Amino acid sequence: MTGLPRHVPGLAGSLWSATAPTAPDLPALDGDIHADVVVVGGGFTGLSTALHAAEAGLSVVLLEAGEIGSGASGRNGGQVIPGVKLDPDDLERTFGSDLGGRMTRLVGGGADLVFDLIQRHGIDCPWRQDGWIQGAHSTIALPSVLKRAEQWIARGVPADILDRAAIAAETGHDTYVGGWIDRRAGQVNPLAYARGLARAAVGRGARLFVQSPATAIGKHAEGWKLATAKGSVVAAQVALCTDAYSGALWPGLRVAQVPVNSVQVATVPLGHNLRSRILPNGVVVSETRKLAWYYRLDADGRLLMGGRGPLGEQVGDATLRGLTRALHRFYPFLGDVAWSHAWSGTVGLTLDHMPHLCRLAPGVLAGLGYNGRGVAMASAMGTVLAKSLAGSPDRDLDLPVTDLPRVPLHGLRQPFVAMAIGYHRIRDALGLPG
Ligand SMILES: Cc1cc2nc3c(=O)[nH]c(=O)nc-3n(C[C@H](O)[C@H](O)[C@H](O)COP(=O)(O)OP(=O)(O)OC[C@H]3O[C@@H](n4cnc5c(N)ncnc54)[C@H](O)[C@@H]3O)c2cc1C
Repeated sequence: MTGLPRHVPGLAGSLWSATAPTAPDLPALDGDIHADVVVVGGGFTGLSTALHAAEAGLSVVLLEAGEIGSGASGRNGGQVIPGVKLDPDDLERTFGSDLGGRMTRLVGGGADLVFDLIQRHGIDCPWRQDGWIQGAHSTIALPSVLKRAEQWIARGVPADILDRAAIAAETGHDTYVGGWIDRRAGQVNPLAYARGLARAAVGRGARLFVQSPATAIGKHAEGWKLATAKGSVVAAQVALCTDAYSGALWPGLRVAQVPVNSVQVATVPLGHNLRSRILPNGVVVSETRKLAWYYRLDADGRLLMGGRGPLGEQVGDATLRGLTRALHRFYPFLGDVAWSHAWSGTVGLTLDHMPHLCRLAPGVLAGLGYNGRGVAMASAMGTVLAKSLAGSPDRDLDLPVTDLPRVPLHGLRQPFVAMAIGYHRIRDALGLPG
């Protein structure tokens, strides 16, 4: 096995920073302005909200603390996977057949939405819709996967159950006992997608500002006033789309989720022989393990592997070794492959593993909690936030409007996460489902 890739923190260290088309040229906010809606956060949630709210005829301002996509949206694995933790039957049982059915269609349509947005707005972004495989790492974990597949198949989606041989043919290794393929899913260069959404929103009249962290929010005669270092925005409504990167602006948001790090490594582009043996049909893969690996080839044939990172910001050699070893275990014939990038970001986990659309105060909404499945789901959340901002009553929205979730004893999350990781490692080793 060859050496380890070098981890570079922040968006700059990501493969996508090196491969996405350049960022749109956007200013920092300088001055006092008004709008119907101010969106905070320039990731998929905020960008999709801004785009769809502008399309609905609202005047929209978006404030991003760093650059577009500099939170999780520009650095993720680019796996575009429909669905949420709850399967369709569970959604309908929990939320009733009307709302549950609409939620099922919303979350099930998340990947189609992404690919449709890319095409409709001519976004310069490599993409493929060749499916996602969820591999069962043990016979004990298999039934939960089959149940999920059967429920989607019963609703007519293009998906198939895969036996051991079929999944080996798709992945190029024989680790999984079975699984399913969801052909609605696919892959994007996530930073290219984020930057393209930003250009599309600007094209629809939204005003986007970068390097403009919102530092304070307060009530105002016209609704709300948000302050930045060099200006302010007054708007009737606010959408807080800061997910796992929420700071002190609205303190409840910071304790609504457990933030965990996810780390990825990428090889250099593989030669033709290797590419024909690894994920030959272009699927993306994750698994039933709770501490799951997720992997795929990118548009240039680099092999990407992602997994759970360390508790703190520092990504050490042990984490990188874990990722590169996992790839070599799946594909021992990789040999002395060279690594091109290693990067990381923060994922927000809610305790119920579900995304949440929340009303924090009259005129203030938030969308968050994608639990590692935000490319499709955050894009879909933006459509619902925009619909609400444009005046739809809550009963017509395809997600329930809830209070902000809360992680009790959030201050103790680090030891809690450490304990949970240890617990899940044991469960994974025993083959138990995630
Ligand atoms: C390493 C990694 C791999 C992942 N892989 C996948 C995957 O393969 N598939 C998948 O579906 N999901 C994946 N995810 C999850 C997915 O990336 C996220 O769920 C999604 O990007 C969340 O989008 P968002 O817009 O809600 O948040 P973010 O993209 O995090 O955006 C929040 C933004 O808010 C900004 N912000 C915060 N505070 C302020 C403020 N006060 N003022 C202004 N701006 C502010 C931040 O700078 C940030 O840009 C992954 C995540 C990580 C970290």
